[in-house]
Amino acid sequence: MITVNGRSYKEQHAPVVAICMDGTSMNYYEAAASVMPNLQRFIKTGSMGLVHSVIPAFTNPNNMAIVTGTTPDKNGICGNYWYDRKADKEVMMNEPSDLLVPTILSSFSQQNKKVAVVTAKDKLRKMLSKDLNGICFSAEYADKANLAENGIDNVTTSLMEKEQPGIYDPDISVYVIEAGVRLLKKDKYDLLYLTTTDYVQHKYPPGAEEANNFLSKIDYWLGELDKLGAIIGVTADHGMQGKTNPDGTPKVLFIETILKEVGDISSRVILPITDPYVVHHGALGGYGTVYLEQKDIKKAKEIISSLEGVELVLTNAEASARFNLPPDKIGELVLLSDARTTIGRAREWHDMDKIKEGLRSHGSLHTSIVPMIFNRKLNSEYQQRLDSGNARNFDLFDFLSNGIS
Ligand SMILES: [Zn+2]
Repeated sequence: MITVNGRSYKEQHAPVVAICMDGTSMNYYEAAASVMPNLQRFIKTGSMGLVHSVIPAFTNPNNMAIVTGTTPDKNGICGNYWYDRKADKEVMMNEPSDLLVPTILSSFSQQNKKVAVVTAKDKLRKMLSKDLNGICFSAEYADKANLAENGIDNVTTSLMEKEQPGIYDPDISVYVIEAGVRLLKKDKYDLLYLTTTDYVQHKYPPGAEEANNFLSKIDYWLGELDKLGAIIGVTADHGMQGKTNPDGTPKVLFIETILKEVGDISSRVILPITDPYVVHHGALGGYGTVYLEQKDIKKAKEIISSLEGVELVLTNAEASARFNLPPDKIGELVLLSDARTTIGRAREWHDMDKIKEGLRSHGSLHTSIVPMIFNRKLNSEYQQRLDSGNARNFDLFDFLSNGIS
C-alpha cells in the first residue's frame, strides 16, 4: 500500500495503465463505436461510468488532479495562467514549483516501482515529471529525449522506430498510446500514465470522419495494451462542445468590454485556457475569472449575471468552496458560460482570425462530465461508486489500484 496526499493505493499484480484522452467526451466514443471494437469490449466485459472533471474543465488542472488525486485548492493548479496581484503580472502556471503536492507517479517511483509517463504536449511534462524517478517524455519532443531529463534516450530510433508526428497532426496522440505499448513490450512496468492532446476534438465533432479515424487508431493500441495484460483505465480531462452562433461564427461574450461599456467598470479577465499553442481555440473557453476593485464587485456581478450565455457567476469565496479552487489564484468573480457560449476579454485581445471557421471548446460545467472506462470488472464497492455518477476523474488511480482485484 502506498499513501499519497492522504489516499491509499494498493500495488497491483499487473501493469497499471492510466490514460487521459484529452477532450474526449462519451459522445465521441458512441459515434465511433463501430470502429472501436476494443473499447466496446472493455465497456461490455469491464466497467464504464460517467464521472465529473475538475472545474475549470481545462487540460492542466485535470491532469494534475488525476496524477495527484487532489483538487486544485490542494495541488495549486487551476489553469495555464493566473494573475499575480502583488507583481501586477499575468504569469504561467506550469512549472514544477507551481504544483504543491507530490504526484502518485513520483511517490510510486520512490517506492521502487517502475513508472513511465508519456504526454503529447511538452507543456505538461515538467509538472508530470516532478520528483519522478522514472521515464517521462513528450511525443512533441520525442527526438530530443535524453537520460538526464527524461530517463530515456533514443526514443525515435530504438523505442518507437520512427519520428514523432507534428503537434497538430492527429497521430501525435496515437503516438502516445503506441509508446505505452512499446514500453510495456520492452520492460516490466508497475505504472504508466499516458496523456494525449485534444487537437482533433477541437476541430471535429463526434462522428466526423477525422474523429473516427483518429479514435480507431487509438483503439488499436488500446487492444495491444490489453493483450499485454495491463489493467487499463481510460478517462478524460474534459469534454468538448461547439461554441457557435446559428450562423457558425464563434459565440463570445467579451467581458472586459461589456463591463466598461455597461457599468464603466475597469476589470481584468483571466482566461486560464490561454495556451502558447493556441491556434484552435483562440483562448476562448467556458470559464473565466474577473479581477476587480472591491467597490465594483456587486455591480459587475449583476451585469455579468444578466448576460445571455452566462450560467453562473460566483464570488471568490463561493467559487473556492463550490469547485475547490485556490482563492489566491482566482479573481473576485468566477464565471461559467452555458453550453454554446465562450468567455472572452476584449475582441482585439483574441486572434479571431484563427477561429473564423467555427469554434469548439470547453471549460464550463457542460464539458465536465467525462467517461471512465476499465478493461476489467470493478469490485462491487467501486462499481457502485462509478454507478452513482458522483465519482471524479481524479479518482482514476484509486479505481485502478483498489477497485480491481
Ligand atoms: Zn484538454
